[in-house]
Amino acid sequence: MHDSHVKTEARVRTALEMRLRPRPWASREPCEVSVFTSGGQVTVQDGLAGAYVPIDPGAPWGPPWSTTWFRISGKVPAEWAGSRVEALIDLGFDGRGPGFQAEGMAFDSDGVPIKGIAPLNNWLPVGSEARSGGAWTCFVEAVSMPGIMGGTDDRFRVTGLGDLATAGTKPLYRLGGADLVLVDEIALSLAFDVEVLLGVMEELGDSDPRRHEILRALERCLDLYDLDEDPAAAGEVLRGVMSAPATRTAHKISAVGHAHIDSAWLWPIRETVRKCGRTFANVAALGEQYPELVFACSQAQQWWWAKQNYPAVFERMKAQVAKGQVVHVGGMWVESDTNVTGGESLVRQLVLGKRFFLDELGVETEEVWLPDCFGYSAAFPQLILLSGSHWFLTQKLSWNDTNKFPHHTFWWEGIDGSRVFTHFPPVDTYNARLTPAELAHAARNYAEAGFGSRSLAPFGYGDGGGGPTREMMERARRLADLDGSPKVTVEAPSKFFEAAHAEYADAPVWSGELYLELHRGTLTNQVEIKRGNRRCENLMREAELWSTAALVAGRSAYPYEELDEIWRDILLVQFHDILPGTSIAMVNDEAIASCAASASKLERIIEKATAALCGRGSVPISFNAAPHARDGVAALSAGPTVTSPGVARVLDERILENDRIRVELDSNGQIVSLMDRLANRELIPPGARGNVLQIHPDIPNKWPAWDIDPFYRNTKTDLSSPQSITVISGGPAEAAIQVEYLFGESRAVQTLRLTAVGDALEVDTEVDWHEHERLLKASFPIDVHADQSLSEIQFGHVRRPTHTNTSWDNARFEFVAHRFVQVGEAGYGVAIVNDGIYGHEVGAIERAGGGRATLARLSILRSANFPDPRGENGRHEFRYAIVPGATIADAVRSGYHFNLPVRTAMAERVAEPLVALANQAVVVEAVKAADDRSGDVVVRCYESLGGKATTTLKTSFPLCRAAVTDLLERQLAELQIGPDNQLTLHLRPFQVLTLRLSPEK
Ligand SMILES: [Zn+2]
Repeated sequence: MHDSHVKTEARVRTALEMRLRPRPWASREPCEVSVFTSGGQVTVQDGLAGAYVPIDPGAPWGPPWSTTWFRISGKVPAEWAGSRVEALIDLGFDGRGPGFQAEGMAFDSDGVPIKGIAPLNNWLPVGSEARSGGAWTCFVEAVSMPGIMGGTDDRFRVTGLGDLATAGTKPLYRLGGADLVLVDEIALSLAFDVEVLLGVMEELGDSDPRRHEILRALERCLDLYDLDEDPAAAGEVLRGVMSAPATRTAHKISAVGHAHIDSAWLWPIRETVRKCGRTFANVAALGEQYPELVFACSQAQQWWWAKQNYPAVFERMKAQVAKGQVVHVGGMWVESDTNVTGGESLVRQLVLGKRFFLDELGVETEEVWLPDCFGYSAAFPQLILLSGSHWFLTQKLSWNDTNKFPHHTFWWEGIDGSRVFTHFPPVDTYNARLTPAELAHAARNYAEAGFGSRSLAPFGYGDGGGGPTREMMERARRLADLDGSPKVTVEAPSKFFEAAHAEYADAPVWSGELYLELHRGTLTNQVEIKRGNRRCENLMREAELWSTAALVAGRSAYPYEELDEIWRDILLVQFHDILPGTSIAMVNDEAIASCAASASKLERIIEKATAALCGRGSVPISFNAAPHARDGVAALSAGPTVTSPGVARVLDERILENDRIRVELDSNGQIVSLMDRLANRELIPPGARGNVLQIHPDIPNKWPAWDIDPFYRNTKTDLSSPQSITVISGGPAEAAIQVEYLFGESRAVQTLRLTAVGDALEVDTEVDWHEHERLLKASFPIDVHADQSLSEIQFGHVRRPTHTNTSWDNARFEFVAHRFVQVGEAGYGVAIVNDGIYGHEVGAIERAGGGRATLARLSILRSANFPDPRGENGRHEFRYAIVPGATIADAVRSGYHFNLPVRTAMAERVAEPLVALANQAVVVEAVKAADDRSGDVVVRCYESLGGKATTTLKTSFPLCRAAVTDLLERQLAELQIGPDNQLTLHLRPFQVLTLRLSPEK
């Protein structure tokens, strides 16, 4: 037989595109459109009552970021009475998907939201009154969001559109127009049948008989359709191939409706609020047509916005929750970053998120839903379990640039050994459209085939919101049980997780961090947001600690509401495009301002609480919020400082020393010798230089704010030949030398300091930075033979090899550390602590004279030009310190101390620590008043060294009850109280323990 299949397949594609798809919308009646430019956002009432003037299709509208209202009026022809009538509104869409161009929300004449208007989802239902031959009117609040990401060829082109100051006022869009349409439902159904069959067919092999069966059925269908364009008769021909069931071994797909809505990214937060309103209204409208819809809605913050700003939409969501059409997932306040976000912040993401769903809906989320963030902390499994959730969903690792992640369904094991059942959808997107091609890819890609049989596919337009559409629902219906395709069931994530766990409870284990081999620059980009976040985290610790102490002492009320409000602001900044620094200028400015506002509110709370606790008087009192004693002040207490004797001095203008450390600089201002005088060890390897500032070109192939590509290391410039080296303090309390460098358009001033009793060399760096596409690093060759580096993460640390033996090690060339990295060999270690630097690299280097040494480098500043073309121009300050002879315990302690300087105030009295722990390995991360406002004290501590630990915990207040709780402060086990208000605690390595301590009333 002669082969005609190529020609026939082409015929089907052409017919679908040119004739079948347009056909259902052929009967049209143009509407009249008038326009009211409100510029900024106005209330719906003001929008409806605006001064409208007529506008014709093709007319320009919408300067960047402005709001424009359209009034759209039409009359349904009498002969359409009783039929399905819809309105189609084209704001000037460019044919690509929603989220990154103009969008609108349609309201009825009473101001009730109807549905969002977006590209590829621009229909509105026309009510029965109008359908019976009446007039129809709606209003659309449209936002002219600029497309920051252009087409595929210019996706990362530098643009000023993300900043109101540079976006200009030229209208961005031309109105497409608005029509009422009589929907030909039979023709619509035929178009979907043909589309799905064509898609399934294209995924089958040429030798698969099913492929040819489908093709010949489609051919017969078109033969009939070409004859008299009768969709009913043509559709009848497809009935046989459409009803053939999937094979027994077909992969099973749990399709979950979803809208990934970045809480800010290429749009500011205020636009996200409206994106939520539009998306959730879409979901409500879709649910009316498709009762089987299940929409997974994450991020409590976005529900909160809907509740505050779109109460009618929020009520509809709640009604859909009752019907099972909307399911709350995620259990986090926002889908936060988990690399840079601190330990207690991650806890509060879970606590505030879960509490919102419990309070508003009376239900508990079971899974953490984080499809899109740039790597996942190894502290997370334990926190997920401790929050009361037991499943985890992620997606992003499919973006790895080097290694293919080996599992799709697996147990993810954290640093403490906690394991959480995890799924990583093989469909490789969290914005699926449920096309046969995507589903076939999921089935082919699924790594556990033969052990498991199912995967999850989140479907719906996303990143900029939008959500599922009826096209996707129609595909899901047709693909439920169709020969040649995986079987699709629209269902809740919990159904998937239950079934996946039941069939594959002994899934493989992935231990440790889920490192994303991409977007490594997000550990450094927009450093001011990261520093602002760190500062807020530190201040929040102090504010909660001293407020609790004042509460227990009966000297002050606890600022519950104020702290909750500040937490919500902090948690929002931790969103996975804000804290990583991958947003437009407007978002970056807003985040920095938000951190500053939170910090000043927290400073006021701390001031008030410390004054209430210790009074204001004539005794100098130091408040030590750190979890370890220092200078004679116990951890978590306030008392007089006891200084030990010691002297720091400067010798020869380039040598600093105290009893512990001696540092020598060369004429370049670089460290040629760093002696640990106690251990009698030189830290700088022979011939090497320490604390060298290095500049690299930083021009990644794609994703400028996100990526550092490995070839950046091919070129580097060491800052040398300083403008000046100046002794700024000669001792005895402090010895300090300042080195000033000029380079490019920029200036860096470093102050190297030893205090009289300090055990670290402190380095303060001030940079006036005016470089573009450059990366600034601080380099420390260290004369230790370290096989691994230890990096602090939330509630513990991770170990990473210093070699690059495997492709996995090699791809991890830039990684996260929180307050410290520590490297060591048997018997000796060194730590580098910081107060707001996250990007690190540590590797082995050849040592002159034999053996090997270790190179640690801190990533300090970048200057990416997209999406914020300003880069990071301006003044920045950083602090880090080198701690010679540091064990892990020393590194932990130094990290806290460096971030929590003592506060001194003239006071009346000292304050005992509310809780005192005997074993230094067990570290207190937070002390707060219980969320239920019972007056109970909540203490969160963890084992910090990576070994089993037993400790006593003694309270300074009479204790009547003590319990271990989950993160939401719900009791897990009661604790025996020993004499003298003492508890005995046993912790496994890196265990996080939340205690609820009830004072005697
Ligand atoms: Zn995202």
